[in-house]
Amino acid sequence: MFPCSWAYWRVVKMIEKTDVAIVGGGINGCALAYELSLRGINAAVIERNYLASGATGRCGAGIRQQWSTKENAALAIESVRIFEHLEDELGSDIGLKQGGYLIAIHDEKDMGQAEKNVSMQRSLGLDVGILGPDEMVEIVPILDVEGMGAIGATFCPTDGNADPFKTTYAYANAAVRNGAKIYKFTEVKDILVENGKVKGIKTDKGKIKADVVVNAAGAWSKKIAEMAGIELPNVPYKKEIMVTERVEYVFDPMVISFKDGIYFSQQEEGQILGGIPPPETVTGYETSPTLPFLEHMSGTITRYAPVLKHVNVLRQWTGFYDVTPDALPILGEVEGLEGFIQCNGFSGHGFMLSPMVTKLLAELIAGEKPSLPIDRLNLKRFESMEFDEKEKYVVG
Ligand SMILES: Cc1cc2nc3c(=O)[nH]c(=O)nc-3n(C[C@H](O)[C@H](O)[C@H](O)COP(=O)(O)OP(=O)(O)OC[C@H]3O[C@@H](n4cnc5c(N)ncnc54)[C@H](O)[C@@H]3O)c2cc1C
Repeated sequence: MFPCSWAYWRVVKMIEKTDVAIVGGGINGCALAYELSLRGINAAVIERNYLASGATGRCGAGIRQQWSTKENAALAIESVRIFEHLEDELGSDIGLKQGGYLIAIHDEKDMGQAEKNVSMQRSLGLDVGILGPDEMVEIVPILDVEGMGAIGATFCPTDGNADPFKTTYAYANAAVRNGAKIYKFTEVKDILVENGKVKGIKTDKGKIKADVVVNAAGAWSKKIAEMAGIELPNVPYKKEIMVTERVEYVFDPMVISFKDGIYFSQQEEGQILGGIPPPETVTGYETSPTLPFLEHMSGTITRYAPVLKHVNVLRQWTGFYDVTPDALPILGEVEGLEGFIQCNGFSGHGFMLSPMVTKLLAELIAGEKPSLPIDRLNLKRFESMEFDEKEKYVVG
């Protein structure tokens, strides 16, 4: 029988005690294990599937510093500073490409907001500017600026993308080299709590004692929090994404439009990768790819870049955003339950923010002063809203 076998016994024995148990082996769980290892803190990552099997391995992995609030822009800028030296630091390729983000401006109202954003972003030292239609086509020659309904675009050349699998595994391998443990195909079934304090976790392979448990379970974070008696306002949103066959490499940036919801970039091997919110918003854990998405995506992308109508879609797939009422992450401690740390609710930007967010959480767990304030992202910001009311504020 398997439970008596040496392999089973070894797994149970291996996972008895750690300083920090991290639920979820996506980019955030693995990056946090690494950041903790730098501070001499033992961490165990518990992943019920393979690493990056959640949103991380299904995402566009775009990295954008062009945010409309100073706090978010600062988080993203610091993350890019880390991304830029991550290959050297972790000793592995992460597939970083800084080809820029070109964000469409559709009308005068958009333009006013873009000017404000650019001025604030420049005050933080970001190299960002506003392009006219001709400059847009110089940078992305396949664009039909009139067809996309744009009058200009903002552009930041140091934005870009990385490979989500390579980045997650680079963090995970570096963490393991520094002493962290990673348990794949191990499911967290319960959070152990005694007298208002976290005491560890129960998995399908045994218990792990820990005074700190981090909830980095992506779109399943709400379920993990429920195990500890904590209610999160997070909602899983189904998102679809597609990739085409390889074509000649012609453009570097990620092209996006907040109005149309579309984003697309060209991979170094030539494929066009992109997504758009489905015509109907779908919440919950339904995973099947749909024809309406493909029609909506093809219709919009060929309006932006008509030449792409000659290119075949190779594959489409789905993943989940873990969405909070204000589409910002939930980070840090939870009032009334000592040792239970949140690292979730990342919506569509959990990959790009992961280097800085996990550094800040590691500082918090190590008892250091976080190098950027994260209080405003604590769960308690939602206390003044009723849960029904919160649903109305969900951003896709
Ligand atoms: C289509 C799509 C496109 C996106 N594009 C971008 C983008 O361009 N840029 C960007 O920054 N972000 C993007 N995102 C968002 C980004 O993917 C996520 O915010 C990020 O990957 C979240 O990482 P994570 O580690 O927090 O969660 P996840 O990667 O979801 O990892 C959570 C892990 O927890 C595990 N888990 C759950 N329950 C349990 C349990 N009980 N026991 C053990 N393990 C458990 C899951 O298996 C999963 O592997 C996109 C997302 C999608 C779906």
